[in-house]
Amino acid sequence: MTRIFSGIKPTGHLTLGNYLGAVRQWVDTDQHRAEALFCVVDLHALTVEHDPARVRRLSRQAATLLLAAGLDPAHCTVFVQSHVDEHTRLAYLLECTATDGEMRRMIQYKEKAARERATGGSVRLSLLTYPVLMAADILAYGADEVPVGDDQAQHVELTRDLAARFNQRYGHAFTVPRAVLPTVAARVMDLQDPTSKMGKSHAETSGIVYLLDEPDVVHKKVMRAVTDSGSEVTYDREGQPGVTNLLEILAACTHRSPVELAASYASYGALKRDTADAVVELLRPVRERHARLCADPGHVDEVLRAGAEQARSLARPTVDAAYRAIGL
Ligand code: ADP
Repeated sequence: MTRIFSGIKPTGHLTLGNYLGAVRQWVDTDQHRAEALFCVVDLHALTVEHDPARVRRLSRQAATLLLAAGLDPAHCTVFVQSHVDEHTRLAYLLECTATDGEMRRMIQYKEKAARERATGGSVRLSLLTYPVLMAADILAYGADEVPVGDDQAQHVELTRDLAARFNQRYGHAFTVPRAVLPTVAARVMDLQDPTSKMGKSHAETSGIVYLLDEPDVVHKKVMRAVTDSGSEVTYDREGQPGVTNLLEILAACTHRSPVELAASYASYGALKRDTADAVVELLRPVRERHARLCADPGHVDEVLRAGAEQARSLARPTVDAAYRAIGL
């Protein structure tokens, strides 16, 4: 059976980008068609300045939101990365397989390191090496597929290179996985700055829609979205990034084509109203299930405990074999 692994960082509240770019696919298809593991990758949240209590709170909240979004522990494994030691055990072996040059080429590293330096901060070594830990997250489970948004495609490519290199040097130890990108909304952009992605670790602005936003908040944010000069609704990422972002969001919510949708709107106002309504409808069941889960916190604890146990039992033989293969 196909095995799938994917993860989410507890660096902020989950956004519409996380949902449309990744989580919805996990819920609607992945957990039903494969042996799927979904992980709150808390170690990745330590690569930049963080507040320990907040990381703990956000990890739990992310796990709760994944269940609220519809991940079903009867169909998939939901767990927290730091509960399973195999990730860091394997990461070291992969660090001995990667080169510093290939790490410095990672776009996310360049962007995030530049942001840290611009605000006078120092760049943690783990920010450079985190794609190796991500490779370990994936390879420890022998995943065939990694459903991710567009921003993570380069890291999955690195994972493939490291797996193939390790296999070639030390004998077959890892499945070489492939990234699976959504066809629509692979990169949801910030409503206020449609040239930058809607990221949960960015400062909270009205350009970011969170999964738990109340309907009136969603409406306000979408109605205030930056649109482009001119008045025609065209699907054109370069020329009309704001309108195109709204079309992609509406298309993803309604399972329609953004190009067809563009042809059916004559004004920005109508497009915004329909997009806001569609997002509210999309998020309604998530908010309702979230409220029910919050009333029963013991359930989330139990899901995460059982998830870690299952993940450990899958990862340990692979990681032990990799240690033997490399000569330890
Ligand atoms: P973030 O960048 O919000 O911190 P993560 O790195 O935790 O998100 O990624 C979780 C998943 O959500 C990944 O598969 C990532 O590709 C996807 N994702 C994150 N932001 C977006 C976005 N704006 N549009 C589409 N997918 C996204």
